[in-house]
Amino acid sequence: MEPDYAAGCAYTMDEYVPVKDAHISILDMGFSRSDCTYDVVAVWDGGFFRLDDHLARFARSCECLQLRTPHTLGDIATILTECVRRSGLRAAYVEMILTRGVPQAGERDPRRVTNRFHAYAIPYVWIANEDQRARGLHLVVARSVERISARALDPTVKNFHWGDLVRGLFEAYERAADTAVLVDANGYLTEGPGFNVFACYRGQLITPADGALHGITRQTVLELAAQIGVAARVGRVEPEMLTQASEIFLTSTAGGVMPVTLLDGQPVGDGSPGSLTLRLRELYWQAHRDGQWVTPVDYRTPRRVAP
Ligand SMILES: *Cc1c(COP(=O)(O)O)cnc(C)c1O
Repeated sequence: MEPDYAAGCAYTMDEYVPVKDAHISILDMGFSRSDCTYDVVAVWDGGFFRLDDHLARFARSCECLQLRTPHTLGDIATILTECVRRSGLRAAYVEMILTRGVPQAGERDPRRVTNRFHAYAIPYVWIANEDQRARGLHLVVARSVERISARALDPTVKNFHWGDLVRGLFEAYERAADTAVLVDANGYLTEGPGFNVFACYRGQLITPADGALHGITRQTVLELAAQIGVAARVGRVEPEMLTQASEIFLTSTAGGVMPVTLLDGQPVGDGSPGSLTLRLRELYWQAHRDGQWVTPVDYRTPRRVAP
């Protein structure tokens, strides 16, 4: 009998398994050292959104960490597609991970470890729940923790070093907010747990240039803004610019464009989701229905990678 993949399908150790049965070794340095990278691409309405961009970022991340995938990007696309196909999910959160792997007993040289590829598709994940998306998120600028230095950890490589981001989340909850954005050692805004941040400041959109992942949703928003003639740029963002912003929103593959309506307990603009934010959110989802960035999944035809 075919296993039940409805809750999600994973690929690990060259096998497809129901996601609940997917395991990695406790000795994998991806687990014991956070020595790994990953990427997340969404499937919406049965199609991948900007798959090639996610694959390209993943390849670059691997290269930056001197990780080598056992698969070509074409094979990775095949594996991700097969995970989605087996799950039957029309809206999915699809993750690919490359871990350093399991060292021989006593081996501590990362060059001497065979890297391992893992992937899975599960139902689409939202950073913000339905209520939060409707009313707008309550955001704080974290005071108790700063973003790990970009000189210590390259923030343009998607990674699992979430110690600072998780501390930010706990601070947000303590301050009765939903989530937090972190500043760097110089006091400039960076990003939050799994999202980039945008402010509409003096009529222009701005998002932090440094200290943040080059989010593909961020890129999409920059491109959509250009299409509708709204000035948008990456640059240095000071917390005061957020305080004075007429609109704030967050961007992530896990949720798209999400309005922020309270900042450090104070209303943003008139306290309701901003009109530009809503327009960009609409265009963002519209882009999932238009063809340009969409790679449809063929749910009927099984696909294999060459062994
Ligand atoms: C994934 C992630 C983002 C958002 O990137 P997208 O490509 O838009 O999903 C932003 N910041 C961090 C730390 C992330 O992990």
